[in-house]
Amino acid sequence: MDEEILINVAQRETRVAVIEQGLLQQIFVERSDSRGIVGNIYKGKVLRILPGLQSAFVDFGHSKAGFIHVTDLIDMRATSEDDLPELPRIESLLRENQEILVQATKEPIGTKGARMTTSLSLASRYLVYLPGSTHIGISQKIEDEKTRDELRHMLESIPEAGQRDGFIARTAAEMVQPHEVLREAELLRKFWTSINQKSKNLNAPAILYEDLPLHLKVLRDLISQNTQEIVVDSRAIYEKLSHFIRDFIPQKAECLKLREEQAPLFDSYNIEDQIQNALETKVPLKSGGYLVIEQTEAMATIDVNSGGFIGRKDLEETIYRINLEAASAIPRQLRLRNMGGIIILDFIDMFNEDNKRQVLRILGKGLQQDRVKCRITEISELGLVEMTRKRAYETLANRLCELCPSCGGKGIIRTAETICYEIFREIQRKYRDFDRHDCLIMAAQPVIDRLLDEDAAAVNELSKAMDVDIRFQVEITYSQEQFDVVLI
Ligand SMILES: [Zn+2]
Repeated sequence: MDEEILINVAQRETRVAVIEQGLLQQIFVERSDSRGIVGNIYKGKVLRILPGLQSAFVDFGHSKAGFIHVTDLIDMRATSEDDLPELPRIESLLRENQEILVQATKEPIGTKGARMTTSLSLASRYLVYLPGSTHIGISQKIEDEKTRDELRHMLESIPEAGQRDGFIARTAAEMVQPHEVLREAELLRKFWTSINQKSKNLNAPAILYEDLPLHLKVLRDLISQNTQEIVVDSRAIYEKLSHFIRDFIPQKAECLKLREEQAPLFDSYNIEDQIQNALETKVPLKSGGYLVIEQTEAMATIDVNSGGFIGRKDLEETIYRINLEAASAIPRQLRLRNMGGIIILDFIDMFNEDNKRQVLRILGKGLQQDRVKCRITEISELGLVEMTRKRAYETLANRLCELCPSCGGKGIIRTAETICYEIFREIQRKYRDFDRHDCLIMAAQPVIDRLLDEDAAAVNELSKAMDVDIRFQVEITYSQEQFDVVLI
């Protein structure tokens, strides 16, 4: 399907939107003070080996040490999934203080450090270069057998490929002449030599290679045959992109456009609203149903709801239609929100087996378009669809939001009523230990309102029983759950 790529450049932030028929499909945000580290290559130093976990911590110059597992130390790319080699002990592969070249495969998330691997790779537009590997492979996204064969021959025509180093043909290689791929292979080898040289001259920890900035990464990774237009709103970046595109993707050079209008780029494509919606829990569907998308630390869940009224007539048909719409909407939501890890989908129960199959088929088709690897693992007894999506980057919500300070991310806070009862208990607790004082209750407006209204009788009784004056003070800076009982 035809695609447009919009690149919005602000002072310290670059945002890239991929749209299809006006609908936002993917959004990338890069801020200059928090550029991601996935893809970066470091000369690191082994800090500590954890034999029990078959893992090690690696100092790579970040505040939080990187984490490496024994499986990250073996080049798994040359082995097939059902033919896994027996794993050696990590103690036999690494020792403390050893210097190793590592590449980040996952951003640090929360308290977890970045995940590292020693199977290094460098991506260019058509190839992934695997230094020291013997693997020759074709992107799984290319399904046509004939194309796969042609690409394999092309890779094998690179001198010493598979012996000296490995290569994987990326999806974009499908649309290009063999000599261009060969040229890229040469460039990648030269580039790798320069990284190696740098590594010899530097002490660990040191960064050896930093992945491209977002605006160039977009050109390298996102442009496909479907790309109709690439619009950028900064002249300086436009110049850089023009060079890059003429050098590496000349057949798409005419797609690149500079936009110098005053109106913000994303506004004119209605992108800002769509970004807001991608942060909402509830996603309305045209059929009247809606999705509820929630992310917890362990997994994400997507619940399909029929929404309000369902006619009694053709109940199964109505449900089927909502589920179908959900099945085609979910892959887009996953991409847009950049959700990863385990994802549980709860469709509305259907009885008709054909309908069930059809819903799953549509879901599978949508997931195939994803640039990130997705897998439907199974359908549970309760009709839940379990799937995984590879997680390398943080979610959109993580990138743009923080936990709500009122509830700390729980999504719920104690009611004013609950707080009033806590206040009563606190008063009783305090007056057991102290002589007679007057008492000042400091709390948020809704709590004080309640104490003066619904709970006024209770306050009165308490005041008599304890023989104290109780006074009130609204603290506008307090959250609903915050209060103080002060003896005066
Ligand atoms: Zn909250």
